[in-house]
Amino acid sequence: MIDVNKIRKDFPIYQTHPNLIFFDSAASSLKVKRSIDEVTHYYQALGVNVHRGVYDLAYEATALYEHARQNVARFINAKEEEIIFTRGTTSALNLVAQAFLHTLKPGDEIITSELEHHSSLLPWMIAAQKTGAKLVYIPLTDEGRITVEGFKKVLTNQTKIVAITHVSNVMGYLTPIEEITRLAHEKNAIVILDAAQSAPHMKLDVKKLDVDFLAFSGHKMFGPSGVGVLYGKEKLLNQIEPYEYGGEMVDQVTKDSVTFKDAPLRFEAGTPVISGAIGLSAAIDYIESVGFDDMHHHTHEIHQYLLKQLMKVEGVTIYNKTSDNPVIAFNIDGVHPHDIATMLDSTKVSVRAGHHCAQLVSQFLGVQSTLRASIHVYNDRHDCDVFIQSVIAARDFFRQF
Ligand code: PMP
Repeated sequence: MIDVNKIRKDFPIYQTHPNLIFFDSAASSLKVKRSIDEVTHYYQALGVNVHRGVYDLAYEATALYEHARQNVARFINAKEEEIIFTRGTTSALNLVAQAFLHTLKPGDEIITSELEHHSSLLPWMIAAQKTGAKLVYIPLTDEGRITVEGFKKVLTNQTKIVAITHVSNVMGYLTPIEEITRLAHEKNAIVILDAAQSAPHMKLDVKKLDVDFLAFSGHKMFGPSGVGVLYGKEKLLNQIEPYEYGGEMVDQVTKDSVTFKDAPLRFEAGTPVISGAIGLSAAIDYIESVGFDDMHHHTHEIHQYLLKQLMKVEGVTIYNKTSDNPVIAFNIDGVHPHDIATMLDSTKVSVRAGHHCAQLVSQFLGVQSTLRASIHVYNDRHDCDVFIQSVIAARDFFRQF
């Protein structure tokens, strides 16, 4: 069982902002002390580069950095050679799209969906434009879900790439990825999973999922911004081209030739995100110390509580009542979401308003933008009550005009 008061002691922001009502974890979660401390330790006690120096400090920094890689690998049941530290989900997904660019030709098909965050959609849209490959959208259900049935309708012998989200950042729907991956592999297509929204909420096992690539970000899972993870199957990683060229990723350089190290280092040109990787590893330790089961139990309970209250508020449209992740997309009829979000902020309630970097979702819903309230382990029923009162007050305020 989660004791929110105890949990909040692990998030220093509640000391500086005791009245914070934070419902924007899907954008970026609050940061856990354990991770902040590890980042601080790196800068205060080490601060040097990794993989290069032959002095003690460099050995220690390298050991921490590589330990972070092992920890991430263990966390998602991968091998450490399969973990690349990137700047975030966005750069991880761009890396993969760039690597497969030269393999695509006119007539090839890339399957994606209208539920994608722009960082999962746009690298492939551009790849399609550059190569003449075709971008194909999985037909969504009326509710807006990706289903195996929908996927089967677009899977063909021309399918080369399947690039989809594991959990939508607006709708919170979970994609049935295992079956989709199995079907895609029957056609020898490569599956790339955007796990930015699933990694902070559920245990990921890359062996079970069997996807070829998977990406997530540290800042959504209590860790630092500026760091993310690209998982790739070892064999594939050593087949694809590096994304960037520079220091520490080469084996041998002559005046007109170069050979590269194996993965992961061939994808980590230059000085990597050392503090970020260390901080992410600490955040993972924290998540595991709380446990996904307890976390899910709690966030689900808060999600259902909030949803039930919000459904009672007259004038509110909710777009994802059956969401699998603890996220609610909604609008107040006749009022621009940004106006509501600004008013909520005056009662210290933080929510997101806009298209959430997923404009095709707004188009699917037939709206310009939405409000989004997203929940994590530090939210409680009191947060929900304040939120509901603030939503009602904001609605009534704007109704006067
Ligand atoms: N995909 C999804 C589903 C997301 O929610 C986000 C972040 N909003 C991203 C990708 C991009 O992550 P980042 O900004 O950390 O690169």
